Formats: sequence, structure tokens, C-alpha cells
Amino acid sequence: MSQPQTACLPDTAGQANELDVSSFGGLTGFAVLDQNGCLVSANARLLELLDDRVRGSGKLDPFSLELHSHSAKELADALTGTDNANLQLDFSNGVRRYLQLGQLRASRRLLLISATHFEESSQADPELDALTGLGNRHRLQQTLSRLESDRTRLSAPHGSTLSNDAPAILLVDIDRFKQINDTLGYRIGDSLLKLVCSRLRRLTTESDPLLRIGGDEFLLVLHASDDAHNAIDLAERIVDLMSRPFLVEAQQLDIGVSIGIAFFDEQTPDSATLLQHADLALQQAKTRGRRQACIFQPSMAVDAQRRRALEIDMRRALALQQFRLVYQPQVDLRSGRLVGFEALLRWEHPVRGMVSPAEFIPIAEDTGEIRRIGAWVILQACLQASLWPDGLKVAVNVSPLQFDDGNLPEHIDTALQQSNLPPEQLEVEVTEGLLFQNPDAALAQLSRIRQMNVDIAMDDFGTGYASLSHLSRFPFTKVKIDQSFVRGAVDDRTQALVSCIISLGSSLGMRTLAEGVETSEQYRRLQESGCDAVQGYLISRPLEAGSVGNFVERCTRQIQGGDVAA
Ligand code: C2E
Ligand code: MG
Ligand code: MG
Repeated sequence: MSQPQTACLPDTAGQANELDVSSFGGLTGFAVLDQNGCLVSANARLLELLDDRVRGSGKLDPFSLELHSHSAKELADALTGTDNANLQLDFSNGVRRYLQLGQLRASRRLLLISATHFEESSQADPELDALTGLGNRHRLQQTLSRLESDRTRLSAPHGSTLSNDAPAILLVDIDRFKQINDTLGYRIGDSLLKLVCSRLRRLTTESDPLLRIGGDEFLLVLHASDDAHNAIDLAERIVDLMSRPFLVEAQQLDIGVSIGIAFFDEQTPDSATLLQHADLALQQAKTRGRRQACIFQPSMAVDAQRRRALEIDMRRALALQQFRLVYQPQVDLRSGRLVGFEALLRWEHPVRGMVSPAEFIPIAEDTGEIRRIGAWVILQACLQASLWPDGLKVAVNVSPLQFDDGNLPEHIDTALQQSNLPPEQLEVEVTEGLLFQNPDAALAQLSRIRQMNVDIAMDDFGTGYASLSHLSRFPFTKVKIDQSFVRGAVDDRTQALVSCIISLGSSLGMRTLAEGVETSEQYRRLQESGCDAVQGYLISRPLEAGSVGNFVERCTRQIQGGDVAA
């Protein structure tokens, strides 16, 4: 067990020598891997912790380790990802180990792993989760089988069960748990899981089986005596209770959970389908913005199918030139002049017709396809804007994933050079999500982009979690006030909020633009509040690239004739 694996040494031998961890002693395992998962070097403790298969192949293949599938998947994702990660690995023999993965700064191609053996689950009962004491995945099958036999027993005399006294399962998932584990460490993550478990216990009775079936996933079974109303009511109470802050090691953690509810009614053939239904409902709860419960509807299975089909078609859509950009005008509120356009992506699917970006962008983000599509959007927008008359700007939406490889500033620079567009005519729009997923990397890249003289707008401000402190930390030049505020601008409180965002923006030296302006009443109010610019159907719907020229000409004529936009 003492020899390190050097079967797949990287080409630079000098680099490998520097990174030789094979002589490291102690209770922590260390390994250095290259980008193919091959061991450059490892100490004996690591090989012991990850089992001997690693030693045999010289490669760290998560799926060849005796891991639970959820752990194998997490490890595989972490190995191919670019972030540092803290993982909790559950082995099938009931042992749990913790792994920290860090990218070596010296090279993008090498990964440093340190592993600690933390805690063994109780050998006495392999069906119990060591951390929470709840039933684990091994117990799941048994629990579901019991549910199936209960149903057969209850339905036998009548030939059918009434859906409102059908048993139900609740699949409870902690929102953004991975982020807590990654940023605060597994010890805090574990303490949080215990607290979540005890809150769940507070709301349920001992007779309702409660299992922990994944890292942050809990399953609650409600038997047939509980009616549909109870299941929904309980789910709402769980969402409510989990939205209250947790206190872990003097830190306040705000998490929240999403819940999928499925009833074991006569349309559900078996317990495996029941579990799939709860999972689909859970995905729906997350798509709708988390911190909520959703009940499975048959349409969700159809939606999931559509989503899968879109996922497959999207891979070829770029090559088949099915994407195009449309441009929505932005107007200065003081002069009434046209100042630029926001580029918005459209997908014309050959069979399904126009697919909304609200539907396909999240899919592109989940599959990672947004990286290729996003790069195309930046170049395309720059090429088109370079044909517009002087000074008109183009704003481009950029997804958090486009910051992952650290090269967004270079991609933007290349697009500017290829198109000859002056950098001050480009604006990058980012959403609040970015500032939470990877704030340090985001800040560094945004600063570089800003140094290039490209403007940076915070999109949809007010819909997420961004606070005043975030706004001042990042080099934003503009705040885009979300349309939900503009539409609500009739009531006094929302109006006050909008004014507040506008004065906050201007005190931080940022311009403000209100989105979704549809009526002249909204236009007037925003003008009175001191907002700088607007965008919305009142001015124009997004235009095809070919219609931009005409629109610009019309605006110029109107201004020359003394008639400003709107
Ligand atoms: P967004 O960036 O906030 O874009 C504004 C959305 O509001 C656009 O929807 C626009 O058509 C719509 N809108 C504009 N004025 C009005 C109005 O007066 N009333 C109403 N009801 N809606 C209005 P769209 O084009 O469907 O885009 C939706 C979202 O998809 C965008 O929101 C943006 O987050 C995302 N998106 C669009 N294109 C791209 C892209 O190229 N890359 C990325 N990453 N995301 C994109
Ligand atoms: Mg936008
Ligand atoms: Mg927006």
C-alpha cells in the first residue's frame, strides 16, 4: 500500500516531482490528479481511504468505487468541475468519508485532493443514517414495499382506493445545500442537517416514516389515514418552519426547502413510479423559485419529457442556425432619445416553433450548453451593433456559468476585436445569482471587464437576494429595475421602493433603467422619480435585426421634429 501510483504521469516530469505527495504521512489522505482523473501521486492513506481499486487502475473513477450512486455522481461532478468542493462520500459498507478537492493554482490541469475519514455509521444497523439516526436509502425499499402492500390491502374490498385517502410521500430537499457545504465546510453542513432533521421531527409523528435518502434529501411517508389536505398542509408548515433562520456555530444560516408531494393513487402503478412523481414535483417546486411545495400533476411528466427533448435538440440548434437575436430599444428619460438595445435570444425550433428563453435558458444552464450559446450571443450582438449608427449601445445577457472557466473577459475582448465595436458601446447584464454562486471569481472577472471600458448592468434588481452591500462591492455601472416593480408602480409602497432603488443607484454612481414599461402612466412616474432610462413594450417590442435600422431612423426623425419617444 505504500507505493504511489505514477502510471499516468503528466508530460512535464518536473511539475510532477514538485507535486509528489506520496511521502505525506498522518491521518489525511492526499492525492494529485491530472485532468483525466489519473493519479499523479498519492499517499498511502488516500489509497486506503478510497479503497484499493484506485491503486489497481491508477485512475480515480468514481463509479468503480463502492459508493452509493448519489456520492459517485457528486464525486464525478466535482472532478470535472472547476470549483473547490467539499464532499461527503457514502460508501456502500456504511462508511462515510469526507473529501476536499482543490484546484492547484499552479496549473488548471491538476487537482489536489485531501481526504479524511470522519465517521463510520453504526455497524449494528446499516439501514440507519449515522448523522441523523433516520432510516437511509437501504431502508427506502422496505418502506416503499410496505406502502405498496398497505395499498393492496386497503383497496381490495372496493377494487379501488379513493385518492383523497391515498398514502402520500413528501420529498423534501434543502435549497442550495451544496453551497453551504462548499463555502462553510462539511462540519457546519452536518450540523445543519441535524437541525433540519429535528425540525422535521417536530412537525411529524413517530409513526410517519422519515428517511434521509440523499445528502440533503428527506422522504416523509404519510399513511392512508391522512387525507390530501393534511399532506399539503404539512408541506406548507415544513416550508414555513425551514424558512426561519438556523443558528450553527454562531452563524445564522437562511436556507429554505423545496418539497415534491405525490399521492399513491390508483393512477400510480407502483412505488417506484410514486418516487419519480415526487421527484418531478420537487423539480417543479425548484423551477418555480424554491421555498415551496408542489403536488405531482400528470402534466409534469409531459413537461419533463418535453424538457428532455429540448435538451437533445438544443445540442444541434447552434450548428443548425436556429438561434437568432432580437433587439429591444432603450430610451433615455430626460432627452427621450434612443440610447441602445438589449439583445434577446430567440430559438426557432423547426417543429415546436418559437421556444421562449424563459423556458430554454434554464435548460441550457443545467446542461452547460449556455457556455457555447452565450459565446455565440456575445459575438453576434457585437457584430450587429457594429453596423448601427454611432454611439448606440448593445446590452448582452450573460449567465453565471459563463464565468466558470475564468475567461469571460478574454471572450468579450475577442468579440470586440472581431467586430470592431468600441468597448464603451457594449454592456454586459448579469443577474444576482452570479454574486452568490461564485462571488470572488465573479468580482475578479467583472473588474477586468470593467477595465476594458465595457459597461456592467445588474439585471432584474429586486427579485433575488442582492442587497445594497452587493451593489457597492461590484463594479456595476447600471441597475435594471425589474418589471415586477414597474407594473406594481401604481401602489404607493412599490412606488416608494422604486424611488429608493433609483436614489440608491445614483448615490453609488450608477445609472438606473426600468424594465417592462407598458403604459405612459408608468413612463411619467419613472420620469418624475428621476429614473435615467426605460425599456418596454410602450417604446417597442424586441425588433428583428433587420428592422433596427428603420427604427433608429424613425426615432431620429421624431427627435428632429421635436417629438421625443413615447
Ligand atoms: P431580461 O434580461 O430581464 O429581459 C427582459 C424580458 O422582458 C424579455 O423577455 C423582454 O422581451 C421582456 N419585456 C420587455 N419589455 C416588456 C414589457 O413591456 N412587458 C412585458 N411583459 N415584458 C417585456 P424575453 O426576451 O422572453 O427574455 C426573458 C429572459 O431570458 C431575459 O430576461 C433574460 O434573463 C433571458 N435571456 C434572454 N436572452 C438571453 C441571452 O442571450 N442570454 C442569457 N443568458 N439569457 C437571456
Ligand atoms: Mg436582461
Ligand atoms: Mg431583466
